Amino acid sequence: MIESKKGNSEKVLSPLANTSTVQFENTLRPQSFDEYIGQKIIKDNLKVSIKASKKRGETLDHVLLHSAPGLGKTTLAGIIAKEMGSAMKITSGPALEKQGDVASIISNLQENDILFIDEIHRLKPVVEEVLYTAMEDFGIDIIIGKGPSARNMRINLPKFTLIGATTKMSMLSSPLRSRFGNVFKLQFYSDEDIADIILRSSSILDCNIDEDMAKILAKSCRQTPRIANRLLKRVRDFADVKNESVIDMSVLHEALKSVGIDDIGLDVTDRELLSVIIDKFEGGPVGLNTLAAAICEEQGTIEDIYEPFLIKLGFLERTTRGRIATKRAYEHLSMSI
Ligand code: ADP
Repeated sequence: MIESKKGNSEKVLSPLANTSTVQFENTLRPQSFDEYIGQKIIKDNLKVSIKASKKRGETLDHVLLHSAPGLGKTTLAGIIAKEMGSAMKITSGPALEKQGDVASIISNLQENDILFIDEIHRLKPVVEEVLYTAMEDFGIDIIIGKGPSARNMRINLPKFTLIGATTKMSMLSSPLRSRFGNVFKLQFYSDEDIADIILRSSSILDCNIDEDMAKILAKSCRQTPRIANRLLKRVRDFADVKNESVIDMSVLHEALKSVGIDDIGLDVTDRELLSVIIDKFEGGPVGLNTLAAAICEEQGTIEDIYEPFLIKLGFLERTTRGRIATKRAYEHLSMSI
């Protein structure tokens, strides 16, 4: 039985980045397509687009990346900028409060620079409107003066590429979505790819884990590189404390147990969410707000962090009437239908 406190596991398992982990993540961030593991179709497509736009001497079409958190959107944006030989400015939807914020960022870009907007679905509608003309015509219209004497003035901007990243494609307005020439959905990673990411990171972190152990650890990483790197760090800490120079099964097991992860990567909250649906709501359907109240979690966290992986595993179904636990979930939790 795994007995970890929820708070403890969340810090390690949340696929969201927080400030204390940013530096650690930057050390491990792949710098080229070759270092970026998996997502082959997306990489192949991007390589063609980049090559073509360089050959024509044109700016790369705007790129929209969407996926669950921690799957490599920011990393990929950085690689695109490197491959294009462009500088990249980074901002986020919530940070752009006024139309003037966008205008000043874009007008300070150089020709062919890349503007990366994380959480682009959180842009305010007024800010979004400025982006439409900026993306399409590389210009911004501003109104000078008031009343009958007011007039429209267009400011020309340098040609730039916008890379937007979102975890919630459905919240993006269709006018904004339609202005991206390249739209890519990053997939969850196979266990083999996650094992490769673990091996790559272990060589950077100078931590001794062999291929077999990396494959076992990979199964607990929710198919997410960010979680793989965090768990590897955790395992390395355990090995250091135990003075073990090599990561073996006992170190691995102890580290995973400390964060409450089971052998297929479910954490305390995943299991609680499923068992509440089964125990309290007879397997569902149960509405998201009721479920959120029952497990004391925010609806957005359930939707963005827990559900995508549970749905991917086939443990949960999202229906118009609510969430339903599947037969597989009953079996995994050893609960009877
Ligand atoms: P997102 O922007 O989607 O939340 P990030 O790009 O910040 O995710 O990736 C989180 C971490 O996972 C990064 O530090 C990076 O080292 C690692 N990572 C992501 N994708 C890959 C990949 N394809 N290959 C190797 N490492 C990756």
